[in-house]
Amino acid sequence: MTTTRSGPTLAVIGGGVIGGICALAAADAGWRVHVYDDGPTTRASEVAGGMLGTLGEGHPGEDDLFALSVESTALWPSWIERLGDAGIATAADSLFVATTAADGEYLRQMAQFVWAQQIPQDRLTPMRAAQIRAVEPALSTRVNSGFLASGEGALDNRRLLAALHAAHGEAGVHWHRMRIDDVADVRADQVLVAAGMGTPALLPDISLVPAKGEILRLHRNRYSVGVPQRVIRARVEGHNVYLVPRADGVVVGATQYEPFADDDRAPQAGGVADLLADATEIMPGLRTYDLAEAGAGIRPCSADALPIIERVDDRTLVAAGHGRNGIVLAPVTAARVVALLGA
Ligand SMILES: Cc1cc2nc3c(=O)[nH]c(=O)nc-3n(C[C@H](O)[C@H](O)[C@H](O)COP(=O)(O)OP(=O)(O)OC[C@H]3O[C@@H](n4cnc5c(N)ncnc54)[C@H](O)[C@@H]3O)c2cc1C
Repeated sequence: MTTTRSGPTLAVIGGGVIGGICALAAADAGWRVHVYDDGPTTRASEVAGGMLGTLGEGHPGEDDLFALSVESTALWPSWIERLGDAGIATAADSLFVATTAADGEYLRQMAQFVWAQQIPQDRLTPMRAAQIRAVEPALSTRVNSGFLASGEGALDNRRLLAALHAAHGEAGVHWHRMRIDDVADVRADQVLVAAGMGTPALLPDISLVPAKGEILRLHRNRYSVGVPQRVIRARVEGHNVYLVPRADGVVVGATQYEPFADDDRAPQAGGVADLLADATEIMPGLRTYDLAEAGAGIRPCSADALPIIERVDDRTLVAAGHGRNGIVLAPVTAARVVALLGA
């Protein structure tokens, strides 16, 4: 069902997860919304792992980002309901695991930071090796310690984008497959620039650092062991690797090179080799999975790791710079944009 509206008009430049969710939130608030997007090939939101990383993204010095991530994660269930579920959520919890004493110590320091942030203590529970293998039997016998992060799940980001697009159709949001080179060319009462790494070209005062990341998609076949039930976030000899469950397999991520040329989206052999080595170290049965896709994307990072969500002038707003956390931070971004619009 397409809704006909008569409210003020909002143009959203960028149709990734940030532009997409802001467009829908604004339409739900009564705006007539047009999305301008030049296509999926440069979209970080297509590439992402889809983890709702909150506790696991808590790093000393990033207390504000941590608080924002916790706030945003709590908003996801109502958004998933708004989008009609559509199999978007693929895991409800995360399991952090380590194989060496040094990696275990790294996880304990992460836990200390999280426990100091006034979240309920039972959100992050220490697990011994036997407890870990009891809940995830496919993990390597080398895994010797870890933590269960309750409520820190994952979304299938491609299903999410498809569901947002379908919801746009029903809410009367109009899509225009085109590139915008100048905000002044867009006719609308208000303009939201949510163009990921394309944002600085439209708003030169916004500066973002491109951080390239490689990521793999492995599909289960009839010879494979089962997909983990939880997001597995492993520390393997100083590297981080994660396995994110999907209906058809797992997403293995992710490398990070920063800064990097923002037009280089080819996965390199070395990054792919490292991800496969670490992933099969943690879950040996992954060797039987099909390597369906090796991809790379560019994380649009701000200088302080916080997203830039603000009014630029009377007609223009920006929502960009979500770095490694754009899927997590999408709901809180939409809420702030709608508040800035004054709807
Ligand atoms: C390897 C990797 C793994 C990641 N994993 C996670 C994860 O597990 N969890 C998480 O929360 N985040 C993750 N991220 C980060 C997340 O993907 C980004 O933060 C998020 O996708 C940014 O969304 P966006 O909508 O701002 O940008 P994008 O998704 O890049 O969308 C911007 C859109 O704007 C369009 N555009 C740009 N310029 C113009 C223009 N001039 N005119 C018209 N259209 C334009 C582009 O074509 C694109 O479609 C990951 C990122 C990478 C690279």
